[in-house]
Amino acid sequence: MRQSQLLMPTLREVPSEAEAASHQLMLRAGLIRQLAAGIYTYLPLGRRVLRKLEQIVREEMDRAGAQEILMPAMQPAELWQQSGRYGEYGPELIRLRDRHEREFALGPTHEEVITALVRDEVSSYRQLPVMLYQIQTKFRDEKRPRYGLLRGREFLMKDAYSFDEDWEGLHRSYKSMYEAYNRIFTRCGLYYRAVEADAGSIGGEGGTHEFMALADIGEDTIASCDSCDYAANLEKAEYGTELAAHYEQGQKQDELERLHTPAIRKIEQLVQALGVSADLLMKTLIYVADGSPIAVVVRGDHEVNEIKVKNMLSAASLELADQETTERITGAPVGFAGPVGLSIPILADFAVMALEAGIAGANEKDYHLGNVKPGVHLTNAQVGDYRNAAAGDKCPRCGQGRLTFHRGIEVGHVFKLGTKYSEALNARFLTAAGIEQPLIMGCYGIGVSRLLSAVLEQHSDSNGIVWPESIAPYRVHVVPVSSKDQVQMDLAMHIAARLSDAGIETLLDDRDERPGVKFKDSDLIGIPIRIVVGKHAAEGIVELKRRNETQVQAIGLEEAISIAS
Ligand code: ATP
Ligand code: MG
Ligand code: MG
Ligand code: MG
Repeated sequence: MRQSQLLMPTLREVPSEAEAASHQLMLRAGLIRQLAAGIYTYLPLGRRVLRKLEQIVREEMDRAGAQEILMPAMQPAELWQQSGRYGEYGPELIRLRDRHEREFALGPTHEEVITALVRDEVSSYRQLPVMLYQIQTKFRDEKRPRYGLLRGREFLMKDAYSFDEDWEGLHRSYKSMYEAYNRIFTRCGLYYRAVEADAGSIGGEGGTHEFMALADIGEDTIASCDSCDYAANLEKAEYGTELAAHYEQGQKQDELERLHTPAIRKIEQLVQALGVSADLLMKTLIYVADGSPIAVVVRGDHEVNEIKVKNMLSAASLELADQETTERITGAPVGFAGPVGLSIPILADFAVMALEAGIAGANEKDYHLGNVKPGVHLTNAQVGDYRNAAAGDKCPRCGQGRLTFHRGIEVGHVFKLGTKYSEALNARFLTAAGIEQPLIMGCYGIGVSRLLSAVLEQHSDSNGIVWPESIAPYRVHVVPVSSKDQVQMDLAMHIAARLSDAGIETLLDDRDERPGVKFKDSDLIGIPIRIVVGKHAAEGIVELKRRNETQVQAIGLEEAISIAS
């Protein structure tokens, strides 16, 4: 490919809207451009990398025995009503109507569609197990799309679903997916950990794992043991028992009072200051203690709650409704879901009960911390301390090793679903004994576009991207120092042609640019091998440099071609 013809708009300046390193690099290297918040176009380089990732995922899915299909993004609302998720999924689900006023959703995930498909096409144990997957665009109206492709509203996901006769079968399917995931992330050059995630109501040992790319920008915190294989999302991590014991030994009363009094006072103030009903406050309650917000949320529409929370805060001029605070609210340390219609003092009690129930969390579904023991202090700052304090704690699994903490990006998720969807959508099969039973399901997701960002969070230096070879948009970058020099250009074109003929993806920088510009761009786009054709072109000598090394080799062109091939 000739660079003069490639749509690769590189940027010198770091775009101000991009916070995450990967987002900055993708904009600067001309991989993506934003169309709307969380919605991106992939330019040629970005598209090439995405295809490489897709291909790795595809090969490993096929190797694990999964079959590729492609399901529609547009899904009838009835399916979601049948599974019970139409209401439950909340505002992340993008809903629309067709010209006949029939309701549809844009798929954020495909459990409903696939269960309906398999219900209609699979009826006997003889057809089991079956594992299907797709690589497809998903839609989620994320509350805070950000960090470029890390949290998009339209993004590429690989989603796989397994259908088995029994739980043993599911364990096997799950294991083969788990192993495929390890191969995928390893092949992509990702540093990651598979961690135990919150099993929720599904339960069971190893009922769900998340694959976490290790990166500071990650939104999850994972605890891992330095001695055994224990690694868990903070939601699942069990620690803090010391504080719990402390609390139980007589601290409880103090703690209750400490919480109660300011909570009630604050609520009363808010009712007055905002002129809202106590009822509304009961739905969305902010309790400010020690300068940190604590949200107590009543079961229901979490998104609506957050909006109200923000409005209430700004209305009250508490100067808390800035982004940082909104973040803190979303990750607020106490969440409690309970019934509506209670008195304010009882609501304040909820904060305490939340502690006792071991739920410290947020006013957003799935953001709660589980298994938090009573006695954990409640403010954000304190939760922060608590997390730090827990580093170095004994491992809850082996009791020998110490826990360390990392930030992680969830790039993959495997989940034993059981019969949740097959029951709801009546997907049954006949066993060998002729008995009708619901299919036992598993689901397995990888955020393919998120994976691209995650790799970039880990593979760059101050000059730009350093692609792992497996997913680089091109393998070789041939750079003639001066495209006006015919000898240099001829040799560069010769090398590029030889490589291309050998099936090596090669980019030739034939632009009429200053050498400095060419080298800067070359470093920025991070192609693994660079062959520079300069003043020794006439003698057939070129310079070869790998992007991840500093050393430059002056070698003959045949040797360069053979190294690059
Ligand atoms: P998160 O906790 O980051 O919101 P999730 O748990 O909601 O992710 P899943 O429903 O498990 O996501 O979806 C499977 C995979 O899809 C995730 O592991 C992640 O890699 C990817 N993914 C989810 N949401 C997004 C998004 N908004 N943008 C890009 N990738 C995403
Ligand atoms: Mg999510
Ligand atoms: Mg998640
Ligand atoms: Mg997940």
